[in-house]
Amino acid sequence: MNLAKFDRYPLTFAGPTPIEHLPRLSAAIGADVEIYAKRDDCNSGLALGGNKLRKLEYIVPDAIAAGADTLVSIGGVQSNHTRMVAATAAKIGMKCVVVQESWVPHDDAVYDRVGNILLTRLMGADSRLVDEGFDIGIRQSWEDALQSVRDRGGVPYPIPAGASVHKYGGLGYVGFAEEVRAQEAEMGITFDYIIVCVVTGSTQAGMIVGFAADDRANRVIGIDGSGTPEQLRAQVRGIVDNTADLVELGRKVRDDEIVINPDYAYPAYGVPSHETNEAIRLAARTEAMITDPVYEGKSMQGMIDLAQKGFFPKGSKILYAHLGGAPALNGYSYTYRNG
Ligand SMILES: *Cc1c(COP(=O)(O)O)cnc(C)c1O
Repeated sequence: MNLAKFDRYPLTFAGPTPIEHLPRLSAAIGADVEIYAKRDDCNSGLALGGNKLRKLEYIVPDAIAAGADTLVSIGGVQSNHTRMVAATAAKIGMKCVVVQESWVPHDDAVYDRVGNILLTRLMGADSRLVDEGFDIGIRQSWEDALQSVRDRGGVPYPIPAGASVHKYGGLGYVGFAEEVRAQEAEMGITFDYIIVCVVTGSTQAGMIVGFAADDRANRVIGIDGSGTPEQLRAQVRGIVDNTADLVELGRKVRDDEIVINPDYAYPAYGVPSHETNEAIRLAARTEAMITDPVYEGKSMQGMIDLAQKGFFPKGSKILYAHLGGAPALNGYSYTYRNG
């Protein structure tokens, strides 16, 4: 496998993200498993960081080589991804246009003013709110944004939702797997499972390719947050195949190595269930680890439920990939008004 041949523009702090043992959460779950978190939520000084920066590190060199002057992307109103694209544009001195669609049926009074979208605007991005529903695919509103940059004589560089179906979208999380292997060697332990939230797919897809190199891709348990698991699975499959080719994995990843659990995305993308909220509270109250109602709260819920159902053999060491997302909590002030 060869990841090093690709240019990487550093947007995250140098060195691996920390792996933290979570003894109080492990005890509270009460299933005789040890939970650790890899803190990709603390991976950068750029606008509170998160998983999209690992992906964007491999995309920025291509944007610069293309002679672009404007990064163009798309997400929901409270998109972490568009915040990270806005941050990247500011950091590398490009302009930024982001289309923000109504992906979440949610009416908190300040939903479109706080959290991610506030930070996005603060960093100077041209944030355009449009009235389209949730879809992880490519959209007309995004094409329109690209054209608007061309119309004013600019050179747009398109970055799809979640930076996932970009040709280099999967590379960043191949690097995550390499980092985990090195940290395991240093810590003298091996993780039996990796838990990751999956919505546009390239985070898990990259991990699958990265962990296929030591034949444990099927230990990466994706917890669906999209609520559209068939479309998601097809998207992950495509990103896995493309990324495996790019890094010369040397074999095809089998279907049984792509594990996505659809059971925790209810009631909808961006809408937390009662169980999601309880999981968010538990992680906050035992470890002061903040998770959000769109992404990490659902993977936290999935991990807790699977552990309590006995899915993980006793004594398992579980690595929870914390991908960021806490800024979105500001858009849910009513939900958590009493904690
Ligand atoms: C985007 C995002 C995810 C999902 O990652 P994908 O690569 O889109 O599947 C999970 N958690 C957070 C905080 C995110 O911003």
